[in-house]
Amino acid sequence: MLGQTLREVSVALKQGQVTPTELCQRCLSLIKTTKFLNVYIIVSEEVALKQAEESKKKYEEGHSLGDLDGIPIAVKDNFSTSGIETTCAPNMLKGYVPPYNAIVVQKLLDQGALLTGKTNLDEFAMGSGSTDGIFGPVKNPWSYSKQYREKRKQNSHSENEDSNWLITGGSSGGSAAAMSAFTCFAALGSDTGGSTRNPAAHCGVVGLIPSYGLVSHHGVIPLVNSMDVPGILTRCVDDAATVLGILAGHDPKDSTTIQDPVKPFTLPSLTDVSKLCIGIPKEYLTPELSSEVQSLLVQTANLFESEGAKVIEVSLPHTSYSIVCYHVLCTSEVASNMARFDGLEYGHRCDNDVSTEAMHAATRREGFNDVVRGRILSGNFLLKENYENYFVKAQKVRRLIANDFVNVFNSGVDVLLTPTTLSEAMPYTEFIKEDNRTRSAQDNIFTQAINMAGLPAVSVPMALSSQALPIGLQFIGRAFCDQQLLTVAKWFEKQVQFPVVQLQELMDDCLAVFENEKLASVSLK
Ligand code: GLN
Repeated sequence: MLGQTLREVSVALKQGQVTPTELCQRCLSLIKTTKFLNVYIIVSEEVALKQAEESKKKYEEGHSLGDLDGIPIAVKDNFSTSGIETTCAPNMLKGYVPPYNAIVVQKLLDQGALLTGKTNLDEFAMGSGSTDGIFGPVKNPWSYSKQYREKRKQNSHSENEDSNWLITGGSSGGSAAAMSAFTCFAALGSDTGGSTRNPAAHCGVVGLIPSYGLVSHHGVIPLVNSMDVPGILTRCVDDAATVLGILAGHDPKDSTTIQDPVKPFTLPSLTDVSKLCIGIPKEYLTPELSSEVQSLLVQTANLFESEGAKVIEVSLPHTSYSIVCYHVLCTSEVASNMARFDGLEYGHRCDNDVSTEAMHAATRREGFNDVVRGRILSGNFLLKENYENYFVKAQKVRRLIANDFVNVFNSGVDVLLTPTTLSEAMPYTEFIKEDNRTRSAQDNIFTQAINMAGLPAVSVPMALSSQALPIGLQFIGRAFCDQQLLTVAKWFEKQVQFPVVQLQELMDDCLAVFENEKLASVSLK
């Protein structure tokens, strides 16, 4: 039951095979069993069970039901949740309880979803590993699959679990791991430079970033407002479309959302891909790309071609500027965004009565980790007297990067196909050898430009690597052609059959291991 898709579990609820309360209890119990993965920062047990009871009544009394009625979902801890602590994982916001829900959270709740909890992340979503928050790193559930452990043994790696476990990717690693540990049926992440797609690829789930402006980001604690998009993590593409249908639409509280009415996203079960033109950007075939990912890309190209689609090499000539450009714009917006954390309005305040200025400084020193402080410093440097040379120039480069995509789509390409990540998830011990900035640059090489261009993109799990770890590929669509993008992704998913076969196997392996970990007794926060 816990490995089912949204659609399947919704049918099970409607047919009375399970009640919302039973389903919720099963998820909560699995959250307890998998506490050692460090997926959740807050488990909203009471809230979820209360919502489940209300939903159960609706099912019993035949009231009209929402699309997610009785279905447990998890939300990254940078989405505001009314009455539930929202921390973003720094000291700064520890204990902060927002008085309102982010619009997207409210929309899920309005459809009857049960909120199981808030998931772990890098501090203020700055990172690509889910390793840099005050609550510690998230462990990838795939580290515990029987197949992966056997491979490690064959390669004579140490059997010590602590040195073997893998990162989830990030910064929405908690949400991706919540999905692949079967503790919920859909999860929200945020995506500013790849933070939903990257962990989705490493955790073997679907990760969607909708077109910028399709979904409100009101109530999402901002990282880079001009690039932040609420992301959707699900077990299959159809589920991502269902959640997108619930979330999309104009929000008077977010002036960046489109005014046009949004139709539901219903994906056809049969798709003819023979008229499609798929582009593969040549700049994305970097020397650092693992040979396994590269060969999956070629296999996918062949798959489309064998169905009559045209697959061509395209060029996005400004790709090499994307990482630096992102860095300039990101740190500049971070410096501005983080100014609100001054010890007066929200969260942490250092008791320093020497002067107000000293209080601000001490609060911010204690409240932020060195990654956040580093970005604030860079951003202030870039914005001050260097504004024209850096910020304005980077905005112009951003336009060139976005125009590369426009040109490719105008030349007749329908969808772009790229890797999501350079390789499979890495062991934590390897990952932390580099600093946060270098890691983010490496890990978001195929994802950041899409945020700068405001395009929709989805990472779909394709296969297991030779190490038995998931690899996902990314499809990128034209702005506001999310329906077309998801239709192509669904066709691809159907051909590769990853979620059905592999996830089911992982579930069996993992559940056995989770039980053995005997950590179920650890109490919930
Ligand atoms: N890794 C990138 C960064 O640290 C992207 C983060 C994100 O998408 N939230 O800025």
